[in-house]
Amino acid sequence: MFSKVLIANRGEIALRIIAACRELGIATVAVHSVADRDCLHVRQADEAVCIGGPYPQNSYLNITAVIAAAEITGADAIHPGYGFLAENAHFAEIVHECGLTFIGPPPSAIRLMGNKSEARKKVSAAGVPVLPGSLEPLQNRGEALELAAEIGYPVILKASAGGGGRGMRLAHDERELKRAFDTARNEAEKAFGDPAIYLEKYLEQPRHIEFQILADTHGRVIHLGERECSIQRRHQKLLEESPSPALTPEMRAEMGRAAVAAARSAGYLSAGTVEFLLAPDGTYSFMEMNTRIQVEHPVTEMVTGVDLVKEQLLIAAGQRMTVPKGRIVPNGHAIEFRINAEDPETFAPSPGRVSFLALPGGPGVRVDTHLYAGYSIPPYYDSLVAKLIVHGRDREEAIARGRRALTSLEIEGIRTSLALHLRILDDRDFREGRLHTGFMERYQV
Ligand code: ADP
Repeated sequence: MFSKVLIANRGEIALRIIAACRELGIATVAVHSVADRDCLHVRQADEAVCIGGPYPQNSYLNITAVIAAAEITGADAIHPGYGFLAENAHFAEIVHECGLTFIGPPPSAIRLMGNKSEARKKVSAAGVPVLPGSLEPLQNRGEALELAAEIGYPVILKASAGGGGRGMRLAHDERELKRAFDTARNEAEKAFGDPAIYLEKYLEQPRHIEFQILADTHGRVIHLGERECSIQRRHQKLLEESPSPALTPEMRAEMGRAAVAAARSAGYLSAGTVEFLLAPDGTYSFMEMNTRIQVEHPVTEMVTGVDLVKEQLLIAAGQRMTVPKGRIVPNGHAIEFRINAEDPETFAPSPGRVSFLALPGGPGVRVDTHLYAGYSIPPYYDSLVAKLIVHGRDREEAIARGRRALTSLEIEGIRTSLALHLRILDDRDFREGRLHTGFMERYQV
């Protein structure tokens, strides 16, 4: 096992990784920007190294500085968390070249899945259903129009190198597609440094259902059930739950098998997520694979009892995963609420100083956060400041617990998305499990 792990991240996920390392008796090194001197991960890690200026490109994305910090402190592995360098195959390669271990999948799997059109082609060849569309990047507008005519509108153009809900353009007809084509290519070039785009059928009112994967170097690849992430705003997840109210045990088994096949086709290792869209008619299609630990991993932990970050550490050290053999049946129901520091009206980030903080506790409640009273949220990073996760014997109990915990979570001094979650819990369709990715449109967001 490693003796010291450097965490190339900040905030709640850095704390989460510190927790897993501590339980395994591994020392931790935090890295931080000058804006994050007072961030909790810096205080809680065994050692901390300042690696640069406030903007991510000068610190958390600065590969040279991160590697130097690992070498200076004598760390033997690097955990990238999510975001920042987590899905950067080049970074993973450099980590290995420097004689350190990258806690995540092999660079080849990151590279493959990071190219969404390549990923589609690969998993499709492994028998996993993908949406009708292009298996190669589109060469020109004519090709896009021809393909769209064949599969039928609406269609969606996506950046091959895209991510984070960005770089997607919807087209309902030929006219819109003609217009969207150049815009999508330009946007892809600007945002991701790669103009390659592909096209697929756009589904109306699908559910976003993703499967948690674990794969170890001893050839074991398993899934730990699904998370339903249909509650999204501008294609970004707001609330996630497990299990999905839409899946029967048979569908779970089938989609789980497909997810495992997708991971195997990529030579996958570590924790990862295979995302599917589930159409109203019950058919499912592969959307993409995320090659990292995800923000919403705690809901899976709550219903399976598996510590996913600990498993990542064990797997990276060449050990067997410790999940018992046999089918995993979800125990009860878990919901995660993402608490963002944002204006509830405009959703613009709302950084500032937290003047008062009271966190809920009690049965079935978990809070993953780096907030403390007196902490000033810097404006340079993601607006996610806390994740409230609740667990109940069933969905109804989880919802009641969610409401109870949300009403006793007090954050003063900044504006947050907390009230929005209470509205969602009161929504009749939500309560009855009638979800789709356009659900939030009713709140005009
Ligand atoms: P990203 O990697 O940027 O998150 P995804 O490919 O995972 O992008 O898609 C994000 C969200 O966009 C999905 O959860 C879904 O709401 C929507 N979406 C993507 N592709 C389609 C599609 N073909 N049909 C309908 N909605 C889609």
